[in-house]
Amino acid sequence: MNDLPDERLEVPFQAPPSLDLTRTALFLDLDGTLADIAETPGAVGPVASRTRTLRALSPALDGRLAILSGREVAEIDRILEGSVASVAGLHGLDRRTADGRLDATPPHPALPDARQCLASLAKAERGLLLEDKGTSVALHYRLRPEAGPAVVDCARRLARQTGLILQEGHMVAELRTPGPDKGEALQAFMAEAPFAGATPIMIGDDLTDEDAFAAAIALGGEAILIGLPRRSRSRWRLEDPSALLSWLEASMIAPVAA
Ligand SMILES: [Mg+2]
Repeated sequence: MNDLPDERLEVPFQAPPSLDLTRTALFLDLDGTLADIAETPGAVGPVASRTRTLRALSPALDGRLAILSGREVAEIDRILEGSVASVAGLHGLDRRTADGRLDATPPHPALPDARQCLASLAKAERGLLLEDKGTSVALHYRLRPEAGPAVVDCARRLARQTGLILQEGHMVAELRTPGPDKGEALQAFMAEAPFAGATPIMIGDDLTDEDAFAAAIALGGEAILIGLPRRSRSRWRLEDPSALLSWLEASMIAPVAA
């Protein structure tokens, strides 16, 4: 993400205005946005109150609600208890449309070799966690941040050698099959019912969300950053997942007048 505007840091991020349910198409990242970041991806599980909010939000938006996550679609369903029909998993490589059709990108042939390389690094350095997602493979260094540079170097080298795409996230380096990113997933949803014609709002915390921030803004919408201020295309910010859930709940209690 080399083309982020430098000046954005000088603009104080503000809390977003109330969500207008009548005209919004809402796109939400999962980890760090709807759920607090956990030590391992498997430690994130369902939360009854969050599921209730999402179940209420989807009809309030006439179905214009989608999740854009780096996780697999099945994992998103596990954590959100199937409360959202439209889901893009693996940063956009897999996409389930509102009517239940699944568009899946086949895995790149170099993935097994890349997986083996990252697995041997994970074996040599304690605290590194390998996550195999089928069409991508991720190495998490949250439990061992000092190994971060070695992980990223290794992933960068593998990306150069294989043609896999390096996706850097917070305390994770991921090698993914080339294909749609979160921005393209957002564009694909916006071209279809029930999203088409609405104003997109993308909400996320990580660098991997910036493609979708750009896509939402290009379509006349907005981006909202979750977490600490950082360089971002977003001009709005909420502190953490619980602030986001409160904001979403408030929008349903006091809807903006059409
Ligand atoms: Mg995230």
